[in-house]
Order: sequence, then C-alpha cells, then structure tokens
Amino acid sequence: MTHPEGMDFFDLRTVIALSGVMGGLMSLVLFALRRNYPASIGGLREWASAMALVFVAGLLAALRDAVPTLVAINLSTALFWGGIYVAYVGTRKFFERPVRHAPWLLLMAALLAAQVWYTLLTPDYRVRMALTTGFTGCISGVHAWLILRQRPLGLARAMASAVLSSLAVQQAIRLVSALDSDPLTDFYARDAWQMLYLTGLSLSVLLFAISVVLMASDRLREILEDLIRHDSLTRALTRRHFIAACESELERSRRNGRQMALLVMDLDHFKAINDTHGHQTGDAVLVWFVNRARSVLRRADQLGRYGGEEFVALLPETSSAEARVVAERIRAVMRVDAPVPNCTVSIGIAVNDKPQDTVEQLLAQADKALYRAKGGGRDRVEFMPDDAS
Ligand code: GH3
Ligand code: MG
Ligand code: MG
Repeated sequence: MTHPEGMDFFDLRTVIALSGVMGGLMSLVLFALRRNYPASIGGLREWASAMALVFVAGLLAALRDAVPTLVAINLSTALFWGGIYVAYVGTRKFFERPVRHAPWLLLMAALLAAQVWYTLLTPDYRVRMALTTGFTGCISGVHAWLILRQRPLGLARAMASAVLSSLAVQQAIRLVSALDSDPLTDFYARDAWQMLYLTGLSLSVLLFAISVVLMASDRLREILEDLIRHDSLTRALTRRHFIAACESELERSRRNGRQMALLVMDLDHFKAINDTHGHQTGDAVLVWFVNRARSVLRRADQLGRYGGEEFVALLPETSSAEARVVAERIRAVMRVDAPVPNCTVSIGIAVNDKPQDTVEQLLAQADKALYRAKGGGRDRVEFMPDDAS
C-alpha cells in the first residue's frame, strides 16, 4: 500500500512514543487524583497503573531497533494487553463490580504464548495481528458495554464508552487491513493504515484517560452533594435542603391542585433520655427514630432534621386525613424495638389549603400543632387547620 503525500513528516516510532508519553502523563494525573480523592472512589489506582503500563509498552515498541525482538514485540504487547485489562479492572472497581482475574489472565497467557510462537518460531505478522486486535477489540467491547449499562449514563461515561467502542472498531479495521499484508512484513513499514491505527490508538488512550478523570470528578461531586444535603448523624435531609424540597413541592402542589402535608416531630422528654442513658445513647435513639420513621414513609416522602431532636417530614399529594394516618403509624412504630424505654414522639401536622400558603407559614402551623400535642400530654398527633392559626 502506498502512503499519502506528506506522511513522511511522521515517523511511526514518534507516534508510538508520543502515545506512550500521553499515557504516562495521564497516569501521573490519575495517581494524583488517587491521592487526593476519597478512598471510596475505587478504580483510580488501576486506571493510573493501566496508563503507566501503556506508557512502558509504547516506549519498548518505539525502541524496536535498540532492544531484542522478544522485548520490543512480545513484552511490549504483554504490557499493552495488561494495561487495557487493568483499565477494565479499574472500571469494574469504580462501579463496585466483582473482579474475576483468573479467566482473563489465562486468556492473556495463552494468547501471549501464541504470540511468542508467531514471532520467533513461525514468524507471521498476520497471525500476530489477529491475536492482538482480537484481544484488544474484545476487551474494549466488553469494557464499553460495562460502562454503557450504568445509570445515569451522563456525559463522561458516554464519552468513555464511545472511546472504547471506537477502539473496538479500530481493531476490527486494523485486522482486516492487515490480512492481505506479507506475513514477514515489518511493523514499521510505512503504511497509511498503520499510521492511522497508531494515531487512533494514541487518541483513544488520551480520551479514555480524560473520560475516567471526568467520571471520577462526577463521583466526587455526588459524594460532596450527598454530604451537604444530609445530616451526618441521622442521614436525614439538612434543614436548608428540606426547605428547598418543600418549596418545589409547594410549587408543584399549586399546579396540580393536590395538597401536600408537613409533619413536625419532636421526641418527648429527650433531655431525660440523654441525662439517664448518656449522650451517645441519645444519638443512637435519634438514628433509630429516623430509620423507624423512614420505614413508614413512602419513597416520594422526604425526611429532614430540623434541629436537635426535632424532625420534619414532607408528604407530597397527601390530605390532612392521610397525613394523620401516617403520623399515627410513626407514633405506633416507636413502640417496636426501642433502644431505651419510654421513647415517644409528639407530632404536629399542617397541609396547604390556600394558594397563597408559604412554606414558612405551613411550618409555623405544624409547629403550633406540635406545641398543642406537647401541651396535651405528649405522645400524640395534632392537626392545625389553616383558619385556626
Ligand atoms: P419535650 O418533650 O418538651 O420535647 O422535652 P425535651 O427534653 O425533648 O425537650 P428539649 O428541647 O428541652 O431538649 C432537647 C434535648 O435534645 C436537649 C439537647 O441536649 C438534646 N439534643 C439535641 N441535639 C442532640 C443530639 O444531636 N444528640 C443528643 N444525644 N442529644 C441532642
Ligand atoms: Mg423534645
Ligand atoms: Mg425539641
């Protein structure tokens, strides 16, 4: 095959070396992220190692004339395969999927043995090409599919999956284009296909590394948002985010004309629980209460911690009668497996019944109902109709 004009400017070895250097640089970026990101984000070490392996593989392949063939071709291929496999392992760890090394390691060992055979004993470029493109293409396809299945997909994951799919397609094209070449052809023969392939490969390595960096930073953002939204002790929504949820639900309620209900819940004589059993037990009671209340609430309901031992629940599309049933259930479920005796809760309910109701008004109304429940002897539910306030 002839090569287009101008191809002489590029030397294949330079392209390989460049793609290796890119892998090396991205490896440093990923190792830095691994140091700085929370340990709960898995896969960064594997991705970083994978880039380092690709870097060394590129370096060895570029040193073709200076090192023995076994090293330049076989060791370099082994490191490259290892690299793309370790990248796949990184993605499995990132998505918290189990990893089974044995089948892949066996496959790589078998392919590598065949590759050594077709390099040293029966040199055949086409068989070697079939081995390397077959393995790289398969693992890229499996890897792309793994990412594509994740929800939500998002830009970074879509990009990673697209890069890997394109790598699989590149491998198939490379195989087809290599089939009609001379079995003893030189890897560095100036060939436009080879040039395209290596450029595509180096771009893929770079783009894959960029997309996993983006995937990891998406994950970091999710973790931080989750921390900001939830109270660290009980995992209920923080006050600010609970109120924001109420605002948007109130807006929705005005549009669809269905009432929403607010419950304000305060544990009874909590000071006494702390004084009798200690602050730590008090904390455990708070966590226990939130889990109990959650077991009664629906998926669409939201639970927030309003302050110390005071909690709030938002029940979308709920009438006062329905809200009373939910509140009574919460009160009742407190009698099951309480960590300390005499764990009870008083609950005040408010619902929106005027278009001009605001979240603050509803919370104040529910608070008044709660006050009445406390005044009435605690361990009870009170509803505050709008006109009573
Ligand atoms: P009432 O039935 O009138 O609600 O009586 P109470 O003792 O529950 O009311 P009060 O508001 O006087 O006491 C609330 C107590 O909750 C005081 C405070 O030390 C305790 N508290 C607030 N936040 C926490 C917390 O995070 N952990 C623990 N263990 N105690 C807390
Ligand atoms: Mg209390
Ligand atoms: Mg209180």
